Amino acid sequence: MRIVLMGPPGAGKGTQAAVVAERLGIPHISTGEIFRANVGAGTALGIEAKRFMDSGEYVPDSVTNAMVRDRLAEPDATTGFLLDGYPRTVDQVGELDAMLALAGFSLDTVVELTADVDVVVARLIERASQQGRADDTEEVIRRRLEVYAEQTAPLTAAYAELGLLVQVDGMGTVSDVTARLLEALGA
Ligand code: AMP
Repeated sequence: MRIVLMGPPGAGKGTQAAVVAERLGIPHISTGEIFRANVGAGTALGIEAKRFMDSGEYVPDSVTNAMVRDRLAEPDATTGFLLDGYPRTVDQVGELDAMLALAGFSLDTVVELTADVDVVVARLIERASQQGRADDTEEVIRRRLEVYAEQTAPLTAAYAELGLLVQVDGMGTVSDVTARLLEALGA
């Protein structure tokens, strides 16, 4: 299965993506995690990405698309994947489509995890105190939500038009949401 998981920051995407990908036996590919790993390792990609991540902005499409292109070319991604946090812009939607088309593939489902803004902000602030992520300060959280609303939320309309979009309520316990996701994916 080739799945995209979308949803605002704090909707629980990362947690759910890991569980669902494991259940489906496909790799969980999180662009945010790949960026954070590069930041941690101090690579050139990490140094470039950090500037944007720390202020809640998106890393430029050219950088992000090239990274995803490389990751999807890895052997484990040839039979399926769960993309978490990509695509996030109109340009990335087009690039992903082109990458898959070149290999003769297409997406099966795009899941949008929906969440209440107040709950999302509260969750992110709590995560900040637990994990100490540099982009989890209240100011940056608000900017990330704004960027999501401006650049990413509108993408769901295009996927809905293609008949690929499924919306899943992201509120509730982790296991409730996982159950809803697996049902929506027919798994
Ligand atoms: P996430 O862990 O998905 O919330 O991503 C953390 C940060 O990484 C985002 O706020 C962006 O700065 C960057 N990022 C992750 N995925 C993308 C993407 N598809 N396009 C641009 N920037 C991204």
